[in-house]
Amino acid sequence: MIKYQLQCVNEHQFEGWFQSGDAFDTQKKRGFVECPVCQSNKVDRAIMAPSVARTDKEIAASLPVPQEPDWISTGAEAAVLSDEMIELRERLAELRDEMIKNAEDVGGNFAEEARRIHFGEAEKRQIYGHTSIDEVQELLEEGISILPLPPGRDVGH
Ligand SMILES: [Zn+2]
Repeated sequence: MIKYQLQCVNEHQFEGWFQSGDAFDTQKKRGFVECPVCQSNKVDRAIMAPSVARTDKEIAASLPVPQEPDWISTGAEAAVLSDEMIELRERLAELRDEMIKNAEDVGGNFAEEARRIHFGEAEKRQIYGHTSIDEVQELLEEGISILPLPPGRDVGH
């Protein structure tokens, strides 16, 4: 195995492991060598210089260091992102649970009920429901504090 310092057409620098110099040439020719920053396959061996511009160093430091020779085609980055999205969605769902736990579902009467509470015509309590964008705008202009509910667990895929 040999390690090459590589650079794409957009001057991103990164490292890649190859069986041999010939293996690198073959993979490059087939477009298999891909920049992890911009996904360009216009990649070549970087000219090793004693000093690297600061921005290049910072970009290089933020790149994952490949542990396996076949890291280019594993799609590991997409899997990591997906896990984070699942976790984020779960946290939003928990936030939603927390927001509606002690609140009363007033359904389509949300705007009306929010006003009644605001003006002291109804018991002060937490409510949730649905309303139109226009109503949301009006409620906010009237100084009534409302928040959008985050999506629940069963919304969208
Ligand atoms: Zn690049």
